[in-house]
Amino acid sequence: MTLGIDDLPVRDELRGQSPYGAPQLDVPVRLNTNENPYPLPEVLVERITERVRAAARDLNRYPDRDAVELRTKLAEYLTDTAGHRVGLENVWAANGSNEVIQQLLQTFGGPGRTAIGFEPSYSMHALIARGTGTGWISGPRGADFTIDLAAAERAIAENRPDVVFITTPNNPTGNAVPPETVLALYEAAQAAKPSVVVVDEAYVEFSHGASLLPLLEGRPHLVVSRTMSKAFGAAGLRLGYLAAHPAVVDAVQLVRLPYHLSAVTQATALAALEHTGTLLKYVERLKEERDRLVRELRAIGYEVTESDANFVQFGRFEDAHAVWRKILEHGVLVRDNGVPGWLRVTAGTPQENDAFLDAVREVQCLVGATPTPPKEQSA
Ligand SMILES: *Cc1c(COP(=O)(O)O)cnc(C)c1O
Repeated sequence: MTLGIDDLPVRDELRGQSPYGAPQLDVPVRLNTNENPYPLPEVLVERITERVRAAARDLNRYPDRDAVELRTKLAEYLTDTAGHRVGLENVWAANGSNEVIQQLLQTFGGPGRTAIGFEPSYSMHALIARGTGTGWISGPRGADFTIDLAAAERAIAENRPDVVFITTPNNPTGNAVPPETVLALYEAAQAAKPSVVVVDEAYVEFSHGASLLPLLEGRPHLVVSRTMSKAFGAAGLRLGYLAAHPAVVDAVQLVRLPYHLSAVTQATALAALEHTGTLLKYVERLKEERDRLVRELRAIGYEVTESDANFVQFGRFEDAHAVWRKILEHGVLVRDNGVPGWLRVTAGTPQENDAFLDAVREVQCLVGATPTPPKEQSA
């Protein structure tokens, strides 16, 4: 007698679908959602408290609808770190980059339009496309998880999508997309439609390479999206942002809810932006730990995809989900993103990573969890 979703008059495209659902399990070592393992430093917690207290005195009023102070500070951060001048007029902010992406799809996608991503990639791009009524096209990626440029260009030419997503460094595979590939895909997308190309740089602070922000120059259909959830260690804050031509910033105003960014969120993000130096020091630590995970996993005998992010994709397994469960039995939660043969682990603290490495060493001894032989040796 229980009423289910499908008994309700929900939209046809939502029938039989499941929501985003990374398991939130209570285990000792959680390395499954690419969070930063370091809590915010106490000085920053104090500063947030001060800023939020001040904001609380004005909570009877709506917040700054245009988030001018915050966008100015975000623009300064981007200018300082990416070697490319970005101004207030180039920046827009929302509740996580997921909301930024939703606003972009509401603006440039929607019913009768399509978006493409090169999969496996960030599953939320497809989910947000569905939620906004945008048709989703699953574009190709090579067996080594790089974007095969010729195949990707063909997919763009054939499908003429309205929005193109390029995630670099990519999630869940970890590898970055070379700037030349991004440029070629931008050109292909302009020739086909022209469409808006969204470069999702959620992990760029962890990358060996530079941000693609300088590519914005002279490319009005290019959007770079960023987040404070990963490098800044502020996933709980829900603050994402984009940089683009001012016309793009004006266009997303057409769909954003008025006062979407609460005064508390703006105050907290502004406090965090006063401490970027400290926060980026944790990033350096995590990059070292990421590189250590790559080295040690390879030494154990696993295959590992090159990583420019704060996580590592490793395999290959006949039954990745069975291995995921075995690792969980050792009190370590990693992620099964549904990429056949592979799992993903987030770089945690040195102690957490040691616990993970101990777990995979033990799991490797169990039947069914042995890594499959490298490609050149297998038939
Ligand atoms: C984690 C992640 C995001 C961040 O989403 P937020 O809503 O900002 O927390 C965006 N893009 C990718 C590829 C991610 O992995």
